[in-house]
Amino acid sequence: MTAYKKIDDSDFQAIRALIGDDDRVLTGGSIHEDYSHDELGGTQCWPDVVVRVSSTEDVSAVMKYAFNNNIPVTPRGAGTGLVGSCVPVEGGIVIETTLLNRFIELDEENLTITVEPGVLLMELAAYVEERGFFYPPDPGEKSATIGGNISTNAGGMRAVKYGVTRDYVRGLEVVLPNGAVVELGGKVVKNSSGYALKDLMVGSEGTLGIVTKATLKLLPLPARSISLLVPFPSLEKAIGAAPLIIKSKAVPTAIEFMQREVIIDAEEYLGRKFPDNQADAYLLLKFDGATDAEIEKDYDNVAEICLQQGALDVLISDTEERNDSIWKARGAFLEAIKGSTTYMDEVDVVVPRSSVNTLLEYIHGIQQIASIRIKTFGHAGDGNLHIYILKDELSDEEWKEKMSLAMELIYSKARELNGQVSGEHGIGFAKKPYLAESLDPDLLEIMRGIKSAFDPKNILNPHKIC
Ligand SMILES: Cc1cc2nc3c(=O)[nH]c(=O)nc-3n(C[C@H](O)[C@H](O)[C@H](O)COP(=O)(O)OP(=O)(O)OC[C@H]3O[C@@H](n4cnc5c(N)ncnc54)[C@H](O)[C@@H]3O)c2cc1C
Repeated sequence: MTAYKKIDDSDFQAIRALIGDDDRVLTGGSIHEDYSHDELGGTQCWPDVVVRVSSTEDVSAVMKYAFNNNIPVTPRGAGTGLVGSCVPVEGGIVIETTLLNRFIELDEENLTITVEPGVLLMELAAYVEERGFFYPPDPGEKSATIGGNISTNAGGMRAVKYGVTRDYVRGLEVVLPNGAVVELGGKVVKNSSGYALKDLMVGSEGTLGIVTKATLKLLPLPARSISLLVPFPSLEKAIGAAPLIIKSKAVPTAIEFMQREVIIDAEEYLGRKFPDNQADAYLLLKFDGATDAEIEKDYDNVAEICLQQGALDVLISDTEERNDSIWKARGAFLEAIKGSTTYMDEVDVVVPRSSVNTLLEYIHGIQQIASIRIKTFGHAGDGNLHIYILKDELSDEEWKEKMSLAMELIYSKARELNGQVSGEHGIGFAKKPYLAESLDPDLLEIMRGIKSAFDPKNILNPHKIC
C-alpha cells in the first residue's frame, strides 16, 4: 500500500500559485458533490482539491508538484463513466479537463483533427460534420469528453463497421505522472517504431498519463444513411439474425437489439411514443455510404435475411423525423432503465457474436436463481451486452447479496463463452475484482509492471484497473 501525503493548507496555497487563478482551484465547500462520483454513482469518494486545468502547462505543473509531494491525482473529464474510474479513491487532487477544450487544427490534407481533451464528443461531431468530415466513434453519451473517450477506449453503436476510439487516435500529447510532457504517435498513418505506447495509453483510464492533446483520424462524411427497424416475435430470433447478417458480408454501421420492456421505459422517460409497438423484440440496423445505390444493395439483402429468420416486418426509416424518434429512444435506454428502479448496477461484457443468444438465455435464468430483475440491451453486431441489475425495493443487504451472485454468474458465463469483462465501459474501480478473476495471473503481473513503469510512485488514479 502506498502511503500518500495528506493535503494541507501549504499544498492548497502552492497549487493556487501554480495555477494563478483561484476560481479554477476548488477546495472544501466549493467542491460540488458531482466530483465525488461518476454517472453510475456506486463508488463515492471526495477529492481534497479540484483543479480545472486550461493548458498543458497547468497539468504538467500540478502533476510535477503531486509527484514531488506524493499526492494522488485523478484525471476527470465529464464524469459520465460507469465504473468509478474518475472517482478519487484516495482523495487528493482531481484534474478536471472540461476547460481544456480548444479545437487546435483541422488538417484536410492529412484528414486529421487535433483537439484538447475537454472537447465534448457532440461538439467534435458537429464541428467536423459541418465541414464534410466524419468522426465515426459514437458512444451513447454525447456529453462525454474526447479525453474520457480516449481513456476508456469508448465504443458505441457504429463499432460494427467503423471500430472503436482506439482506431481513430493517431497521436497524443500526454503528461506523465512525473509531470514530463511527451508526444506519442503523430499524424503518420503507419508506425512500426517500437512498442505501441500511444495504443497503450488509449483505454488506460487515466492510470498511465493525462491526455492533453489528441490528433484524431477523420473520414469523409457518408452522404446517405438509412435505418431499418425489424420487429421479431422473440429476442432469440432477433439475436439469431445478427451473425447471419455478418456472415452475409453486408456491412451495417450498427446492429442493436432492444426489448419491449426497455422501449416502454424509454417511452416513459422521453414522454414520446416509439414508432412501432407490434413486437417484443427488435433489431435496429443502420447503413451508410456514398450513394443510395451503395446502401440499397446491402439493406435489401439484410432485410431478406431477417424475414427468413422470422421477422414480422422490415420498417425502413429514411426520414429525419423517424430516424430521430428511433435513435433517440435507443440513446435513452440507460437513463430510462435507471429511472425505472431505485438503484442499479451494470455489466458490460463482450462475447463472440455467435454466443450472444447463449448468454442472454443464461441471464434470463439468473433472474430466477438470484430472484432479482435484470434488463438488457446492446450491440448485437459486436457481441457487447449492457446488462442492468435492478435493486427495486430490495433492502441494502438483500441487494448486495443478490447483485453479487448475479454478477459472479454473468462474468463466469462470459468467461466460459470466451468473452471479456468489458466491451467499452472499462474496468475502473467497480470491475477490478472481475478483471483479476478473468485474467491469466501472468498477464495481470505484466499489467501491474506497465503501471509501475509509467507511475513508479503509484500516484496517478490509484486503485483502478489492476
Ligand atoms: C447514458 C450513457 C451512455 C453511455 N454510452 C456509452 C457507449 O455507448 N459506449 C461507451 O464506450 N461508453 C458509454 N458510456 C460511458 C461514458 O460516457 C464513457 O466511458 C466516456 O468515455 C467517459 O468520458 P468522460 O469524459 O465522462 O470521462 P470520465 O467519466 O470523467 O472519466 C473516465 C476515465 O477517463 C479518465 N480520463 C478522463 N479524461 C482524461 C484525460 N484527459 N487523460 C487521461 N485520463 C482521462 C478518467 O480518469 C477516468 O478513468 C455511457 C455513459 C452514459 C451515462
